[in-house]
Amino acid sequence: MRQVFVEQWPRLQRELREANEGRGPPKFITKAVNAFLDCGFLSKGFCRLYCKSCKSDQLVAFSSKSRGICSSCDGRRMTELAAHLCDSVIGEVPVRQFVVTTTYI
Ligand SMILES: [Zn+2]
Repeated sequence: MRQVFVEQWPRLQRELREANEGRGPPKFITKAVNAFLDCGFLSKGFCRLYCKSCKSDQLVAFSSKSRGICSSCDGRRMTELAAHLCDSVIGEVPVRQFVVTTTYI
């Protein structure tokens, strides 16, 4: 998906400006897409983590923390929520899940 945005985002912005009297996409959209395009790249910002016990360090790239556009950030958020629900909300009780599906003919 990232490659699609890299290739098509400039064209989409240009076409929106041409169709809307110079107005491009809303600023929050532009901000989210640009953050998504920078997500996970060391060249766009990082922090250095150092472990005192093993004396090693690691560079960790900043993430976009955007919702709905960055699969990496969405996956991390989904995993954190699932862990929180299992550890803190649901607790040690038996749980049964049902899925109901309807179809229109
Ligand atoms: Zn991200």
